Amino acid sequence: MICKYCKSSHLHKDGRRNGLQRYRCLDCNKRFDGEIYTTTFIEHFGIKIKEKPTNKITRDNYCTPTNKTEYDDRKMIELAEYYKKNNIKVPIPSYYSDFPNEIFIDKNTYTDTWVRKHYEECMYNYDLNIKYFSKLDRDGFNKELDSFIEKTRWNRLLI
Ligand SMILES: [Zn+2]
Repeated sequence: MICKYCKSSHLHKDGRRNGLQRYRCLDCNKRFDGEIYTTTFIEHFGIKIKEKPTNKITRDNYCTPTNKTEYDDRKMIELAEYYKKNNIKVPIPSYYSDFPNEIFIDKNTYTDTWVRKHYEECMYNYDLNIKYFSKLDRDGFNKELDSFIEKTRWNRLLI
């Protein structure tokens, strides 16, 4: 947290207003609301990233169940609609075109059953990964870590 006006980090907590933490800057003496300027950057494996709770993966925040469809699924549905409209015969799984079904209620919404199933798979994978990592010795773990970082950096170049 830094001062909105002079960028100083010498701040004093100054009560709350409208549910937001207030701060008083010890350098320029101005007051301002917290939250809005809480973006801090941290160095994470050599990469500067925004600090947020999800940087630390825990079992609780690993997977957030949501009914809102993912981008790739929405695109597939749009593609299916386009093919259908233009009478193009391309095999696409019917769950992308016939609603509702076991996966989609509509283009934007997964069924509760699907969300639950997806969440369970997600947690199963998480537990499996942790089980694997906990069996590695220090060198083995560092090797996995290095390979993960390489993979992540490479993906960043593509985005
Ligand atoms: Zn200041």
